[in-house]
Amino acid sequence: MSKHHTPTSQPHCPDMRIFAPMQILDGKLVAQTVKESLKTKTAQHLAAGKKQPHLAAVLVGHDGASETYVASKVKNCEETGFKSTLIRLDTTATEAELVAVVEKLNQDTGIDGILVQLPLPKQINEDRIISLIDPQKDVDGFHPVSVGRMVQGLPSFIPATPYGILLLLEHYNIDTQGKHAVVIGRSNIVGRPISILLNRNSYPGNCTVTVCHSHTQNLAGICRQADIIVAALGRPGFLKADMVKEGAVVIDVGITRVPDPSKKSGYAIKGDVDFEAVAPKCSYITPVPGGVGLMTIAALMKNTLYACEQKNIIS
Ligand code: NAP
Repeated sequence: MSKHHTPTSQPHCPDMRIFAPMQILDGKLVAQTVKESLKTKTAQHLAAGKKQPHLAAVLVGHDGASETYVASKVKNCEETGFKSTLIRLDTTATEAELVAVVEKLNQDTGIDGILVQLPLPKQINEDRIISLIDPQKDVDGFHPVSVGRMVQGLPSFIPATPYGILLLLEHYNIDTQGKHAVVIGRSNIVGRPISILLNRNSYPGNCTVTVCHSHTQNLAGICRQADIIVAALGRPGFLKADMVKEGAVVIDVGITRVPDPSKKSGYAIKGDVDFEAVAPKCSYITPVPGGVGLMTIAALMKNTLYACEQKNIIS
């Protein structure tokens, strides 16, 4: 072979760039890695005579998705060596009843983390309940104190879903510095916090962030400029291939139950990304299921251990 023949070199035509093959961001694998590490730390904790991390989950009513999430959180506690307590209230529970439960958990020194599964029935004011949780036990990171500290870049609990996304980006060593991140959705639990975190002066972070919502004009054009897209709007298959530039990193947060008679459950779980069409254009992409959802629970477990260690420090 001639020394001038270099099969791996790029073609001279500037429009024919070569992109690295797409890689799946495997939430199942990374969540398992995180949980194994937490399990080891918990065992060391116990061997040193320290207390077992203890998460209290409060579930009001019988919403199918909420039941599934809470059951999964309890199961993950067991697998990680944490203690868990599930407190159930009826769908008709009053705000005063839930307030009493939260206040009791706040005062219980055995409980490290408190999560009140959302959404709550309409007779209960969610903001009031979240504000009542002791910020030292706010493992969901929704309390105004946690949010305020996060916005100021101070040590705080980070909401589990955005924290899970950061852990995923970190695990795959994805370059975020100087990248244009487009976040679709501005909710308090996903869109807004991940936009703040990606903008922080740290890793993962230092992105230039555009936050889109239901009033955003030219959303497709904005998405096409993105190096990183976080789709968190709850519209199955919303992000199409023509909205994504070659080589983008796509994080699909969406979880929607779509009727599917072929499934035993009667529904399929769909993300916000048209995965089949979008994936071939990406450098990295999360699947649904098997992506951000599993990372969310792993991140919650991490927050619970932090709470137990009385550290609450996430840099
Ligand atoms: P949400 O509170 O309903 O917020 C949705 C956001 O998307 C809003 O900011 C809304 O804009 C925006 N939006 C809706 N339609 C839009 C459109 N056509 N174009 C642009 N923006 C649009 O939802 P969420 O709680 O953030 O959840 C979003 C999705 O993530 C849901 O599928 C949820 O199930 C899923 N989720 C997954 C996890 C996980 O662990 N993987 C955790 C939490 C949530 P406006 O503000 O203008 O209304």
